[in-house]
This record gives sequence, structure tokens and C-alpha cells, in this order.
Amino acid sequence: MKPMPDLIFDGHNDMLLRLLQKHVQDPAAAFLGGRDEGHLDLPRMRQGGFAGGLFAIFVPSPTPGRSRNTTPQCSAYDEPLPPIMSQADALPSVLSMIAIMQRLEQAAGGALRICRSTSDIRAAMADNAIAAVLHFEGAEAIDIDLHALDVFQAAGLRSIGPVWSRPTAFGHGVPFRYPASPDTGPGLTQHGRRLVQGCNSRRIAIDLSHLNARGFWDVAQLSNAPLIASHSNAHAICPHSRNLTDDQMRAIRDSGGLAGLNLAVCFLRPDGRDIAHTGVDIMLAHLDHMLDIMGADHVAIGSDFDGALIPDAIGDVAGLPVLQQAMRSHGYDDALMGRICHDNWLRVLDQTWGDDISQDISDSCH
Ligand code: ZN
Repeated sequence: MKPMPDLIFDGHNDMLLRLLQKHVQDPAAAFLGGRDEGHLDLPRMRQGGFAGGLFAIFVPSPTPGRSRNTTPQCSAYDEPLPPIMSQADALPSVLSMIAIMQRLEQAAGGALRICRSTSDIRAAMADNAIAAVLHFEGAEAIDIDLHALDVFQAAGLRSIGPVWSRPTAFGHGVPFRYPASPDTGPGLTQHGRRLVQGCNSRRIAIDLSHLNARGFWDVAQLSNAPLIASHSNAHAICPHSRNLTDDQMRAIRDSGGLAGLNLAVCFLRPDGRDIAHTGVDIMLAHLDHMLDIMGADHVAIGSDFDGALIPDAIGDVAGLPVLQQAMRSHGYDDALMGRICHDNWLRVLDQTWGDDISQDISDSCH
């Protein structure tokens, strides 16, 4: 059965970090019961037609520097990034966030499932369960020999960004700079090149959203998988270092990949500011531009819920229908809505993870 066209499979959220920081004692109660804070919980996901997505595991730095929810209010900025973090420093938070996800799955009684294949995602969507995919936003918890990659893959990890913007052993991220080109420094390291090959051979998705331009082009050259920028907007509209140039979008299109519309106001607004009073029109402008450059098969959603300031026109996940309504009023038909809202993610993950993995897992269920 095909899901409703507007049901959203979302490329990026930071709910696990919020639960770790605010509700580590009882994350399941906060998720299931719903609280009037943050952007995501089960009751509001249901209200908003949120079918699931990639749930990021991001390790905050103990040291000063941009982490989350800082608010540039000036017309130009260049925020310092925290220094590189060791695997030992990253592991406790990463293990805690995976444990939170496992506890949510246990407590939800089938209402949320950790998905390891696209057949898992499709089955969850058909059953009206939230389809959760584990994603690392930054590879700090992975050693350069990639032993931890195997361990985390066995625990359900299916997608990884070699960097959140902070540097890692694998590469250099893009700083939060406006107005600025994404070409901000060196690309992948030798270890980063091996990580790309290691993800390809294990069929783990690689997320380009926080890589700088050189890292992006390194992955584009090396990877045999469709290119994914899970939560990045159009640089032509908002010239933030985190957004994608038209050339980057063409490379994503040519690889069969996708870019997900990020709802963070500082990546949407042409002035790059963190101002919540932002309407839906600017989201449509980014979507139109992404559609112009990449075509309907390569545009998706990557909300950044719980990780960024979102327009007050949307507010939280329960406000997604405002965006969907605006897309429909703007002339997007059922076929286009289905592609943007979930089909493109499913197709790209099908290709990246491979049917063989889906097959293995569905076979083992019988
Ligand atoms: Zn991010």
C-alpha cells in the first residue's frame, strides 16, 4: 500500500540530544506523553503527519564554541568551532543516545521502530509506527580503523556524517559563517577517504550536510552511493556557508541523490538571521530553486527539528501541515508531494543500503 502523499519521512532531527540533555531519567515518558517543549514527541508527530526519519546522534562539545541554538543577530557572522574531540570523549554521549532510542522503542509498544532497512521503514509507515533510522552527525565515536563502525552498524547505525561542523579525524566541517561560500578549508583526510570507502562497502549512507566544499567534492569523487545532503538549503537564496551551491546540487542530482529542505531560519532567510518570525514563503522559494536545479526526484525534507530555531509559522512538528498546505497551494500535485515528502528518501536509501540488506532482514523475520 502506498503511503499518503503528504506523510513526511524527515532527513534530520536532534530529538535524542534534547532527551539526553533534558529527560535522561525518563525519556520514554517525555516522548510518549508529549511535553510542551522542543519540537518532537509522539503526540505531535501524529498530529503533524511525521512518519519518521533520520534521528541524529550528535555529541555536544564541553568547550566553548558554537554547539546548538546560538542566535546570530548581526548581519554578518563567523562563529568559532569547538576543537576536535576524542573518541573516548564522544562515546559516553553516543552510547546514551542509542540507549535512549532503544528505550523509546521498548516503551512505545510498536508505535516507534528502529528501522534497519527500507522494508522496515515501509512496514512501519504502513502500520502507522514512527520509522526511526540511527544517524551519526559527526564521526567522533568512530576509530580510524573503523572497528566501531561495525559495532554501531550492528546496533542499527545506517547513516553517518563524517563531520558535524567541528573537525574530526576524517575531515573538516563548514563553520557557521554568513555571508560565505562553503569553500572554507581542506577536505577529507586520508582517514576520511577510508571512511567513505568503509561506508560504501558496508552500505552505510554518507551525509554531506556539514562538510565544507572540498570535503563534499572529495566524497562526490570517491563514493559509489547517491550523494545525500540531509538538511541543507539553496546557497543562491541564503548565502550561508552551510547551504548548497547550484554546482553541488547538480552533482547531487547527477549521482541520483537528494537534498533535504532545512527549516532552520538562519539557513532559510536571505539575511541569514536567527529570527523566528519567518513565513513559509521562503521555504517555497528554496524548494522551487532546488526543484529547478535538481528536479523532482532529488528534493526532500530535512527539518532540523530540536536542533535549530524553526519559523514560528511552523512552530514544531505539529505545524508541518502548514508547510504541506503551502506547497499544495503553490501548485505541487500529489506526485510531487509524495516525492518530496518521502518517496525520494526511500528511493535513495533503497539504492544506498541495497536490496540485499533489506532482503536479508526480511528473510530473517520468517
Ligand atoms: Zn546539522
